[in-house]
Amino acid sequence: VDALIDREMEDRPIEGAGTSAFDWRRHVARLEILPTTVDALVPRGGRAVIVAPHPDDEVLGTGGLIAQLARRGRWPLIVAVTDGGASHARSSYWTRQRLASTRPLETAAALAHLGMHDVRPMRLGLPDGRVRVHEQALVAALLDVVRTGDTIFAPCLLDGHPDHEATGRAASAAATAVGATCVQVPIWMLHRARPDDPNIPWRSALRLPLDAATVAAKRAAAWCFRSQIEPDPASGAAPVLDARMLARWLGPDELYFRA
Ligand SMILES: [Zn+2]
Repeated sequence: VDALIDREMEDRPIEGAGTSAFDWRRHVARLEILPTTVDALVPRGGRAVIVAPHPDDEVLGTGGLIAQLARRGRWPLIVAVTDGGASHARSSYWTRQRLASTRPLETAAALAHLGMHDVRPMRLGLPDGRVRVHEQALVAALLDVVRTGDTIFAPCLLDGHPDHEATGRAASAAATAVGATCVQVPIWMLHRARPDDPNIPWRSALRLPLDAATVAAKRAAAWCFRSQIEPDPASGAAPVLDARMLARWLGPDELYFRA
């Protein structure tokens, strides 16, 4: 199974320029997707549960939502599926162990920029790159924490990364089982897909506008992920996330799909 998944990861590497932030924004503007609000997205009486496959997904996908909820005193529960040990497969500096100890600290620093100080995400410690193998365990872990009336945010089912798609499926299954709402968050879909991809469920799209202070906080939070945005100190290899990629997630609104 490991070899199969390695092949799958290699078949779908994150490379190339991908679709630009401008192309997405132009498409979203053309569709005239009506804006939503945090209180409409996460009705009072329920919590936001943000399920992040890797440290940084919570900020890139839902950092604006987190900041706006925190400002209202409605801190979301963040579930960290893996500690992100597999982002640098060939690095002598960024070993699996160093990544898994560093990246959760980057998330903690990033969350402080979003108004969530001294918050520890719930860490499930599943192996990065192998979430699919542990999908049922992930469903079980989510069933322990998700309650009726919660809104779960998880990567969309078209995200094009095996860990992300497995996380999205598990979140959807847990939400259905307990009577929670599942909202899908496009993360790598914004890199890999084209806006006119017929598989994108635009009719269920939601757009959360972010005010200038929220955008600034989200950008500051994203800069905390040094392991991902700086070149590899050992080899000088390009960063995992470059400026063009970051631009897709750091714009004036966040895009979601109602499942
Ligand atoms: Zn990820």
